[in-house]
Amino acid sequence: MQYIKNYINGELVEPISKNYIDNYDPSRGNVYSYIPDSDEQDVELAYSAANAAFHEWSNTPKDVRSKYLLKIAELIEKNLDKLALAESLDNGKPLKLAKLVDIPRAAHNFNFYGTGILHYAAHAHSMEDSAINYTLRQAVGVAGCISPWNLPLYLFTWKIAPALAAGCTVVAKPSEITPMTAYLLSEICMEAGLPKGVLNIVHGLGGKVGNAIVSHKNIPLISFTGGTVTGKQIASIAAPMFKKLSLELGGKNPNIIFADCDYEKMLHTTINSSFQNQGQICLCGSRIFVERGLYEKFKNDFVALTKKLVVGAPLDDKTRVGAVVSKPHMEKVLSYIELAQKEGGKILCGGKRKILEGEFAEGYYIEPTVIEGLPYNCRTNQEEIFGPVVTIMPFDTEEEVLSMANSVVYGLASTVWTEHLTRAHRMAANIHAGIVWINCWLMRDLRTPFGGVKASGVGREGGFEAFDFFTEPKNVCIKLK
Ligand code: NAD
Repeated sequence: MQYIKNYINGELVEPISKNYIDNYDPSRGNVYSYIPDSDEQDVELAYSAANAAFHEWSNTPKDVRSKYLLKIAELIEKNLDKLALAESLDNGKPLKLAKLVDIPRAAHNFNFYGTGILHYAAHAHSMEDSAINYTLRQAVGVAGCISPWNLPLYLFTWKIAPALAAGCTVVAKPSEITPMTAYLLSEICMEAGLPKGVLNIVHGLGGKVGNAIVSHKNIPLISFTGGTVTGKQIASIAAPMFKKLSLELGGKNPNIIFADCDYEKMLHTTINSSFQNQGQICLCGSRIFVERGLYEKFKNDFVALTKKLVVGAPLDDKTRVGAVVSKPHMEKVLSYIELAQKEGGKILCGGKRKILEGEFAEGYYIEPTVIEGLPYNCRTNQEEIFGPVVTIMPFDTEEEVLSMANSVVYGLASTVWTEHLTRAHRMAANIHAGIVWINCWLMRDLRTPFGGVKASGVGREGGFEAFDFFTEPKNVCIKLK
């Protein structure tokens, strides 16, 4: 069985303790490889390498840094099949999805930021003829990047690429639940000739490796994507140390459907926004509000389509819904389905673990589940479930649906379906969320600000916002007379 290694100072190395953790294949429920159980000693090694590389890397011309990133992008594209297979095996997601979305996006992240840095300019402020101010944007230092398991390589590279392009060196930790493609990325970086120490990848548990990165006294900025509870814990350590913090956290996104929407487009997109990646996308719309006049029709059609979704082995071409990522996560999602019933919800379809045949019998599969009859303010409708589970609720007025949509602690993304132009704008302005999709879902232009409000996070990723985060502005004032 394969032993994954850390990537420190340009080399693949074992954890100092020589201890390893089991890595599961969620489609079969068995251990298929081992992950370094690293600790603060490995983080210290990674930090030292990153720190030693910082001066040279941050002073390397942008176009040279850019070329390294573009080379990495090219190698990701070249290894698309291998990376997609690894992602699907590690995460349980359909191979088709990994091939179509996850891996191409990882390459795109490097391409986007590798070219973006060439266009990143600072400001100057002239005080007529008395003085001129200009702003230097300098790489902050060694960046700590910590990412989750739901879109493993996609989100890992979404942090690493802008950090490296901006001139930071990096100590990064992928999720211990899905480490494989981060490991393959370290091989790609070696092949691309990335100078040693520029990127360091330390595998292991959040409480050990993640915590050691967050509390390291010489790592001045942390870019984190993951759960809100973890984000809160990270902020409590990093804020008193005055670290720069970017927190991309959980969500409980509303999908608001008005009766005047383009029905067919809405219906098919809503299937995706509910169940793509087994509902394990922070941007999925898990609370579906439907205008009362359309409610019964929507319910019947949506449930009929949901029942047709093939739940199956990730490598099977027919599969639309693969395995959820782990046994504890499966149990958490199933416990929410139980809670929903206790709270008075009616299961319209799904609601159970799905047992596949043969070698997949122990895999972590859940039937796509639609629930109705719950009040907007019950726990099922307020807490993040992060699985193939949605609730549907009728509404009568714009004011009512806005107050229900905005009633949660989260504010990441939202979707509105209507052909009524001014209503669409009104809704967009009044929804508490960092992202509003009108008549679409998950359309991503990487130049746009990405992030949430309230308990969904602090700060924005995307476009030049990411470069602003990984650089520090320094104003230089020159007196002219
Ligand atoms: P998680 O918070 O459990 O873990 C995320 C990462 O943090 C992992 O690498 C983990 O090892 C590490 N970690 C855990 N404890 C830590 C600690 N004490 N200190 C430092 N690091 C620690 O989240 P998860 O279960 O991997 O991911 C699912 C969550 O991520 C969901 O809540 C989802 O909404 C959220 N998410 C948000 C976005 C976004 O862009 N806002 C994107 C994807 C996922």
